[in-house]
Amino acid sequence: MQLQFWGVRGYVPTTTAEYLRYGGNTCCTAVWGSNGEQIVLDTGTGFCQLGDKLMEGEFGRGRGELTLLITHTYWDHILGLPFPGIVHVPGNRLRIYGPDSTRGSLEMVYDGMLSPVYSPVYGLAHIGATHSFRPISTEPFMVGQITVRALPLSQRKHSPIWAYRIEEAGRALVYITDVRYSDDQIWKRAHEFAAGAQVLIHSAPYTREERVQDYGHSRVEDAIELAIESQIERLFLFHHAPTRTDMDLDTLVAHYRAQLVEQDSLLQLDAAGEGLMFEV
Ligand SMILES: [Zn+2]
Repeated sequence: MQLQFWGVRGYVPTTTAEYLRYGGNTCCTAVWGSNGEQIVLDTGTGFCQLGDKLMEGEFGRGRGELTLLITHTYWDHILGLPFPGIVHVPGNRLRIYGPDSTRGSLEMVYDGMLSPVYSPVYGLAHIGATHSFRPISTEPFMVGQITVRALPLSQRKHSPIWAYRIEEAGRALVYITDVRYSDDQIWKRAHEFAAGAQVLIHSAPYTREERVQDYGHSRVEDAIELAIESQIERLFLFHHAPTRTDMDLDTLVAHYRAQLVEQDSLLQLDAAGEGLMFEV
């Protein structure tokens, strides 16, 4: 299977020139299976460009099928959902997995995004494509030949945050975001979930040295330690802080790569960038 990043920024989009190489759209990653399966992890603003691309194929003719895996419903992970043409073309089918919050179901949240207060669409009932919302659980499920596993990893006050593991033909990628390893149990569960995967995509907006109030994010060092402990081959840092320019990200990656060399680690480390495509 192949993965491609469409949005790698956390919190808010960044649009000025010094962010354009890694990209300024918020969280969205596409996974293409060997048998034509199409899966999208989170639908931040990167989902808009992905949707435009998909319109060139079956989705433009109302014959597209897409599985969306939503980790949680904070804006930077869902903002792109109502915008691309693919969700407005009748005949397209979107299956949406994600957690309900204590304030309402995922479907209610999405319907709310389309309410007249925010959008001229006037609610989910008036959108063109068929949207079916599926409850998420720890029970694995199939998308074509791909196995998807999900795990509730952290709990914000009203919004649980889930991690996903996607497996095909003995290869696996794991996607973890917006987690703080505040106790050993969370770390242990993340480690067990990631163990044996080839690729880990992990949010890492800040380093341990940076003193910022960020409401519950792991650090770059956490992502690297989890990857090493879980024997991951390749780690992509994403959910980059909106203050992190392209040059900052280059410097950051070079710094931690040098540390990995010193430790004789074989882990390949990258900062995820929009457009980057990778065979898992
Ligand atoms: Zn986030």
